[in-house]
Amino acid sequence: MKHSSDYFRNSTTAKLEPLVMYVDMNCYFASCEQQRHPELRGKPLGVLTYDGPNAAVIAASVEAKAMGVKTGMRLGDCRVLCPDMLTITTHPAWYRTIHVDVMNILRSYCDDVIPRSIDEAVCNFHSYALVYKDLTEVAQQIKADIAAKYDYLKCSIGIAPNTFLAKVGTGLQKRNGLVIITPENIDEHLAKMKLQDLPGIANANEQRLRKSGINTPLEMRHSSAAVLRKVFGGVVGEYWHRRLNFGEVDMYNRAENRTMSATRTMSRRQSQDRQQLESMLISLCTRLEQRMVKGGLFCKDVSFAIRYRDNTKWETSVKMPEPVQDANELRGYIKERIAHFERSHNLSTLFNPNTTNLTVVVQSFVKDTVMQYSLFDNRLKKDALRKVVYQIKDIYDQKNIVRRGSEMFSPHVMKDAIGFGSVKDMIVKDGQVKNKHLLEEDESPGEPRKIVFRRKEPPPAPKEEDEVYTEYAGPEYSDVISDE
Ligand SMILES: [Mg+2]
Repeated sequence: MKHSSDYFRNSTTAKLEPLVMYVDMNCYFASCEQQRHPELRGKPLGVLTYDGPNAAVIAASVEAKAMGVKTGMRLGDCRVLCPDMLTITTHPAWYRTIHVDVMNILRSYCDDVIPRSIDEAVCNFHSYALVYKDLTEVAQQIKADIAAKYDYLKCSIGIAPNTFLAKVGTGLQKRNGLVIITPENIDEHLAKMKLQDLPGIANANEQRLRKSGINTPLEMRHSSAAVLRKVFGGVVGEYWHRRLNFGEVDMYNRAENRTMSATRTMSRRQSQDRQQLESMLISLCTRLEQRMVKGGLFCKDVSFAIRYRDNTKWETSVKMPEPVQDANELRGYIKERIAHFERSHNLSTLFNPNTTNLTVVVQSFVKDTVMQYSLFDNRLKKDALRKVVYQIKDIYDQKNIVRRGSEMFSPHVMKDAIGFGSVKDMIVKDGQVKNKHLLEEDESPGEPRKIVFRRKEPPPAPKEEDEVYTEYAGPEYSDVISDE
């Protein structure tokens, strides 16, 4: 949701006052479980999305972390490190209840609270300089309010002149932290950190920096904007310079403004075949799905346009009840609109032989970190699986596999290729295994098709139509505030 002050949130001018607070709940899911089950407190605990020998821990308690258990670790590996670890499956509704309560506590101090994920939020105190003399006192009070409602829940709070540095502050003290970063002490803090301690700096970025002789966060902060532009190849470097020098880049999520579109023009011959038109719609949705998975984005709006040879056009836009990434779902919304229009105007089909171009546009993006709210209901596995399938394609260099599958003319094959099965399919163990562990179970990495994609018909002949994929970004944007 857009706040009225979005326009002012990101700013090119440095603001030196530490008036941004970042709140990050510690070991959130595990602590929520320990809150509700006192018998689990003080014990190593792993939270799972489902129970099974291959399950992976999506959150570990402080006690389990102390034994070396990490998020994403498989149960078998956890048992080696921590034989006494207890497990519990997720209770999304409970985590959301606590999230809402915590956000309400934050909003009782500041009306500009921006949730960043189910367990993180930014509070913008720039309008409160006259109200609070000392934000560390406010932070203590927030911790006390949370503890009064949920005595086992702890959070780390960072206070700084911008969102990025405030988030850095939450990472400096592990549990129940409170760190304030100011222009006076920033160098002292950065001097103790490694490049990868900065949110948004992982292997690739670290290598880039090192190649240019920048080996520490401190050196990075004291590099000029011009140097960082060179390192990161453009405006992204400018953003890094601002982050480390008190400019605001991250408070307002620019992803909201972006659009992605996929469009395809077809030959006269192709448009004679309704099935081909249907396949192209699937192909366009799949393209967008692929881009969203890679970008870690879900969209809230989808638009679709059909252009005809006489230059007339039919278009529709759908605001979806919840953010979507799945190609089949996108297509479902579009098809519903098409069917409704056809019915209410007694048209046999909008996909008529005069069709010359199809375009699908998605926008109003939500980061997948924020999506955790609803994902946990029943979509988490499906969304995780989709991500893994794309990773597998990258690993095996089979980048065309989805496209080929989705362009086949037999509907059940298409469904297989893009839907990646439903949640139910993933629990089915016999026959076609469709769960997120298939990478490890596959002994011959040369044959990924056998696991996920079954080709039932030969691929279509080479295409003659041109296909255009565009991604219009408006102002350039980067999504650095996220855990990697
Ligand atoms: Mg956290």
